[in-house]
Amino acid sequence: MSLIEQLKFDDNGLIPAITRDADNGEVLMMAYMNAEAVEKTLKTGKVHYFSRSRRKLWMKGETSGHVQTVREIRFDCDEDCLLIDVEQQGAACHTGHRSCFYRRWQDDAALTEGEKAADPMQAYAREDILNAVYHVIQERRRNPSEKSYVASLFGKGLDKILGKIGEEATETAVAGKGGDKDQVVYETADLFFHTLVLLGYYDIPPERIYDELRRRFGMSGIEEKQSRTK
Ligand code: AMP
Ligand code: ZN
Ligand code: ZN
Ligand code: ZN
Repeated sequence: MSLIEQLKFDDNGLIPAITRDADNGEVLMMAYMNAEAVEKTLKTGKVHYFSRSRRKLWMKGETSGHVQTVREIRFDCDEDCLLIDVEQQGAACHTGHRSCFYRRWQDDAALTEGEKAADPMQAYAREDILNAVYHVIQERRRNPSEKSYVASLFGKGLDKILGKIGEEATETAVAGKGGDKDQVVYETADLFFHTLVLLGYYDIPPERIYDELRRRFGMSGIEEKQSRTK
């Protein structure tokens, strides 16, 4: 019998997996696996997950280098949850914390505990720049500081973000009309940035946009319009 036959996947074909530090039992993270992720994890000895937001199989550490090497795999009584003891390289959490559970809820507020085990900026720098900026936006959103422009945008709400996109789109168009290439670059960067803030608002990783562009790539514009369901 294979492990996949043993396990119960949910209606979406997923099973939650909790990973622990094999050395001290600290809970590091929780994410979902599909059958392929379980298979790859068994075969390679490196933990693989299925990202629901990015809709793809992913090896933990593939960009950050923070890989998880399997020591032991367990599953629970009704076979619908995995518990994996790992040797964790660096930090399990993409924020740089060793464990994703670095915040404690106390007195109606979230308390951040402990030092970061890794520099998230260094991990993000290994991603493409849109993903890297997107993650920093998410980080600012979770940990708002007074100095953060992103945090102030989120604080002012969706309409403020949408207004900025409209503004930057107009400025990009004006720059395009003006013909100064540096100005076009500058305003397009503003526009990209503010659309990333909107993606952050809805927790849509840039990879979803890449997938959509990839899907359209090579189709004629007419074919593409016809292929749209809505
Ligand atoms: P990594 O697998 O560490 O190279 O990180 C690649 C991407 O996977 C990150 O940018 C995040 O989007 C996601 N990710 C990494 N670690 C976690 C985690 N502990 N929980 C949720 N998402 C994660
Ligand atoms: Zn269970
Ligand atoms: Zn995390
Ligand atoms: Zn601008």
